[in-house]
Amino acid sequence: MTQRCACCGKPFAPRPQVPDQTYCSAPDCQRTRKRQWQRAKRHSDPDYRSNQRAAQQAWAQRHPDYWRDYRAAKPEYEQRNREQQRACDQAQNTDLAKMDVCELPSGLYRITRHPAFPRENGASWVVEITPVAVTCPRKMDVSREDLIDTPTIRP
Ligand SMILES: [Zn+2]
Repeated sequence: MTQRCACCGKPFAPRPQVPDQTYCSAPDCQRTRKRQWQRAKRHSDPDYRSNQRAAQQAWAQRHPDYWRDYRAAKPEYEQRNREQQRACDQAQNTDLAKMDVCELPSGLYRITRHPAFPRENGASWVVEITPVAVTCPRKMDVSREDLIDTPTIRP
């Protein structure tokens, strides 16, 4: 029995232990599978969602210079982001039905520090959130799942 990989589309033989395997064993396809699983989990499991958020915040606290240094090292990054965002915005208009729409509606949001972490100065940020198409390469940058990959933390 062969299956077609949901990611690369190539035929593969599912492992006997996993008869309904939908992704082949290629590393890229497995990464995609993991990402899809995490996305579904984030949408369905509020505990998982807040654990992930806490892990991201903890990571950002340990690496406060990450984005500043990243942008300083790659001035073309901002420009590329803007171009990709524009492409994504356009794709979105035509691709809305296929999109994995987050339950978060686009608009202005206030971001405040998680109560589990010590307050520094009580500062908060107003950010604009707009949905990003599934195929948007920026989404990979934004979520940084591959970089963080922290085990689940229980509060
Ligand atoms: Zn594959």
